[in-house]
Amino acid sequence: MGHIRLTSVKKSFGAVDVIHDIDLEIVDGEFVVFVGPSGCGKSTLLRMIAGLDRPSSGEIAIDGKVVTKVPAADRGLAMVFQSYALYPHMSVRQNLAFGLENTRMPKAEIAERIAEAARMLEIEAYLDRRPGQLSGGQRQRVAIGRAIVRRPVAFLLDEPLSNLDAELRGSTRAELAALHARLSATMIYVTHDQVEAMTLADRIVVLRAGRIEQVGTPLELYNHPANRFVAGFIGSPH
Ligand code: ADP
Ligand code: MG
Repeated sequence: MGHIRLTSVKKSFGAVDVIHDIDLEIVDGEFVVFVGPSGCGKSTLLRMIAGLDRPSSGEIAIDGKVVTKVPAADRGLAMVFQSYALYPHMSVRQNLAFGLENTRMPKAEIAERIAEAARMLEIEAYLDRRPGQLSGGQRQRVAIGRAIVRRPVAFLLDEPLSNLDAELRGSTRAELAALHARLSATMIYVTHDQVEAMTLADRIVVLRAGRIEQVGTPLELYNHPANRFVAGFIGSPH
């Protein structure tokens, strides 16, 4: 589970074409990173996969089912934002439970999922605190935890580390890689940071002005960049 296919996806805001005709296939369990300069359409593309924006034309399918018109909540995905988007008046535990409580899930199962995510992310000690009492790194773990408890078929992460300082960014990046190995869920990760892309990705999608410049493994892009833009962005000498 977690196979995602985009076919001729386009997006315009008013008269401005932001995404031009994107075709892309992401397989189960893959860690795919969207990179490209600010404003190239990374977030827009991710939001369309999430169901937070609708393509102007084209089709998005998840596990073989067309979801272009399916609301975000029914796509089986979970999104993690750079801004954390936690509820400040709720405890960490309540933040993690939020969203599961509107389903028919038994309380015991909700508690079990929260305990499991808290263990995985080492946030057990903070479950009864509020987000305002946590550091940036701890808040980011809670935001990731809120995605984990939903057991999504894919995680969509939009620059999740960009609010952290350099040291914490490094350690959280390593934890994310470990988490991916452990959950074996599909991850689509947006960043403008070349190091994050090179170290995390199974495959990198390089975007520029709403178009795909190249798709490949970090090594393929490094050794055989399609053009100067990709080479420059990846930091390849070729
Ligand atoms: P990135 O995440 O790569 O920085 P975005 O996907 O956020 O880029 O934005 C791509 C382009 O689309 C930008 O020019 C941005 O200004 C524009 N854009 C994004 N969202 C909207 C919107 N809701 N309305 C109008 N323009 C938008
Ligand atoms: Mg963005």
